[in-house]
Amino acid sequence: MARRDFYEILGVEKGADQDTIKKAYRKLAMQFHPDKNPGNKDAEEKFKEAAGAYEVLSDTQKRAQYDRFGHDAFTSRGGGGAGFQDAEDIFSHFGDIFGDLFGGGGQRQQRRSRNEPRRGSDLRYVTEITLKDVLSGLEKEIEFDTDENCKTCNGSGAEKGSTPEACHTCGGSGQVVRSQGFFAMASTCPTCHGQGTVVKNPCKPCKGKGRTSVHKKIRLNIPPGVDTGTRLRVATEGEGGYMGGQPGDLYVEIRVKPHNKFERRGDDLIGDLSVSYVQMLLGGEVEVPTVTGKATLEIPRGCENGDNVKLSGEGLPSLRGSRRGDIYYHVSVEFPDKLGKDEEKLLREIAKEKGLKVSSSGKKLFG
Ligand code: ZN
Repeated sequence: MARRDFYEILGVEKGADQDTIKKAYRKLAMQFHPDKNPGNKDAEEKFKEAAGAYEVLSDTQKRAQYDRFGHDAFTSRGGGGAGFQDAEDIFSHFGDIFGDLFGGGGQRQQRRSRNEPRRGSDLRYVTEITLKDVLSGLEKEIEFDTDENCKTCNGSGAEKGSTPEACHTCGGSGQVVRSQGFFAMASTCPTCHGQGTVVKNPCKPCKGKGRTSVHKKIRLNIPPGVDTGTRLRVATEGEGGYMGGQPGDLYVEIRVKPHNKFERRGDDLIGDLSVSYVQMLLGGEVEVPTVTGKATLEIPRGCENGDNVKLSGEGLPSLRGSRRGDIYYHVSVEFPDKLGKDEEKLLREIAKEKGLKVSSSGKKLFG
């Protein structure tokens, strides 16, 4: 494989000083940064190429060797420079250069061995409550399964009295490295799957996995005013930590069951209500359902079909603790299916007084 000249790659003169080399590299690294060129293989290659060139030219000793022998200076090691496996590798190598460029790119999480303490995952749990629960808040017990470090082997997976041994394939690094042209390629060790250790005598309770499942029961305090989509965080009740790491958190997501009478709009509720034509005309009090029971609603005189009549303060509490919302009743006029004798008599008198022509009696109302 023909290799490009390192000076040429960085676009600097042979005699360029360290500052110029650093600047030239930063410029290229920014241009071909994988975050800016997602999925672009060509940019990735250029990014690696620049890193390889910079690795040599930024090191006085390597640069002197390179100046003298060219690429041959490094062939005995299977390529120029250390060889970079991927962008992560480059970040951890030249972190100080990237740190101020890419918002902490240099401090990216590095590959970690499973034998180091690691925080457990956060868990998500969805729970369904009723509208009535939203009104009062509730205490609810939830149960779920997760896992944690095996207490018998402390997470090592090795039987009591024994310890995991360094993997012979990778020598404990968890990675196997092979040279491929310019770069040394590292991949996860097939024997230990990246752990760097192998367990000869597996721990019995966890079958060598180092983890055991746990059944958790938690009392949740759901405050009044929650809505579908509200997330409650329960600190440290997530998956157990690895190797002494912190446990994750539990996030409980609320779903509010649809109500058969009311629809929710923020802290307000909307419901349908039929009101007698007499009360619509004259106004008056009617009994209405609320979330918890019944209340009296004042129908204003001359109320029209389709009006929304408000019942103050009977809606839902606010999560922010301000006043309760209201209930709005969407009113529709109600006519009797069948007129009583007296009612019909009175209506006919009204019609007569108003000079309205009405049909003769005996016909059924509404079909
Ligand atoms: Zn165990």
